[in-house]
Amino acid sequence: MKALSLDADAHLRPPYGSGVEVLRGHQFAELNRVLMEAREHNPFYQEKLAGVKLPLQRWEDLAQVPFTTKAELVDDQQRFPPFGRNHYLPEHEYVQYHQTSGTKGKPLKVLDTPESWAWWRDCWVEVLQTAGVTREDRVFLAFSFGPFIGFWAAYAAAEAIGALVIPGGGQTSLERLRLILEMRATVLLCTPSYALHLAEVAAENGLDLKSSAVRVLIHAGEPGASIPSVRDQIDTLWNARCYDHSGMTEMGAYAYACQLRRGLHVNERQFFAEIIDPVSGDAVPPGQTGELVLTNFGRRGYPLIRYRTGDIVVAADQPCPCGRPFRFLPGGVVGRSDDMVVIRGVNIFPQSIEAIVREFSDVREFRIVYYTEEQMPQIKVQVEADTQTVGILGRRLREGIGLRIDVEPVEPGSLPRFEMKARRVLDLRPQTQVAASGPLAPQDGTD
Ligand SMILES: [Zn+2]
Repeated sequence: MKALSLDADAHLRPPYGSGVEVLRGHQFAELNRVLMEAREHNPFYQEKLAGVKLPLQRWEDLAQVPFTTKAELVDDQQRFPPFGRNHYLPEHEYVQYHQTSGTKGKPLKVLDTPESWAWWRDCWVEVLQTAGVTREDRVFLAFSFGPFIGFWAAYAAAEAIGALVIPGGGQTSLERLRLILEMRATVLLCTPSYALHLAEVAAENGLDLKSSAVRVLIHAGEPGASIPSVRDQIDTLWNARCYDHSGMTEMGAYAYACQLRRGLHVNERQFFAEIIDPVSGDAVPPGQTGELVLTNFGRRGYPLIRYRTGDIVVAADQPCPCGRPFRFLPGGVVGRSDDMVVIRGVNIFPQSIEAIVREFSDVREFRIVYYTEEQMPQIKVQVEADTQTVGILGRRLREGIGLRIDVEPVEPGSLPRFEMKARRVLDLRPQTQVAASGPLAPQDGTD
């Protein structure tokens, strides 16, 4: 296995600290290495790369390399079961099995070799160290350890750092809370939704979270921790600082928040990032939103080249003021291409609604409902909150989204709660209307 780097400031020193030029040189060499290996050994990519002149000579040549979509990976796995041709190494070289959460569609099976699993772990080491996790910490993972990759690599990374790792699988929320308090856990890893839910359960059971030892929360699985209103709620309820992170089963742990918490940095030592118009495939200009396209460098045995992640991000032309030369995504992942709907001519992402709903700390849970009335797509938001909040929230949504959105109060405790990957959207529209107003990209959910 590769030696583990525990150097938290590696990104600030040469060659990467000497600027973007050196970083781009490294990425260009890595892209060519991944492309050449795929062309030589990988039947899935041999087919896709036929006709592409390799190695690439200039950045412009990258445009010849086709995008990869999740639909292609799923289709290949169905045609060549059980693992598909992108798993091109002999089966005995793989040691880890995971699958996507299958929130939408059939789960994708993904295998790792000892080398690619060590790469996953090292990417997570960077996430943890950037949030200030050290060997002195006790890291609690509130996660049901199943085949979904979730926090498995985080577990390996926390152990590699030398922290005490506490697995929180197979427990109720109350049992987890008691263990977090009893063990004096200092770091909590879970989805942002689940951090809010745990706080709700703590309040119901008279447990005082503010006196817990938790000082850092790191969130994955959903984008909420980059939404300022969500982040503020979690910080307040836990009396701690929460950090966003973004990763995907099929891609890797690709981005994290720094201490400034203004958005996500793509880990560009390990990934190459592009931001494209989901329809034309062209790069979008700074300031606009587009779909994030990634290539991973360290997942030998299951590489993804120019993969359309479905994550919608804002293209920034400036790096984060923290000094990392990496591509900066202000506000993190602002939506999913397959979650966007068009209602009365307005593009809506569930995250934009959540950002406003979470300004109200007495909203315990909410759900967005798309439905049809007189042949027209409509939207309403169901909330567990008191009547006064319902009225104010309606006005805030109208200001913030630019659309009248009905807010419907529902019984406290009646909406679903989530441990992983909250789905706060109920889509009651007929399928024909779904096709007409979303999704943007012809692929199913990525996770
Ligand atoms: Zn930063």
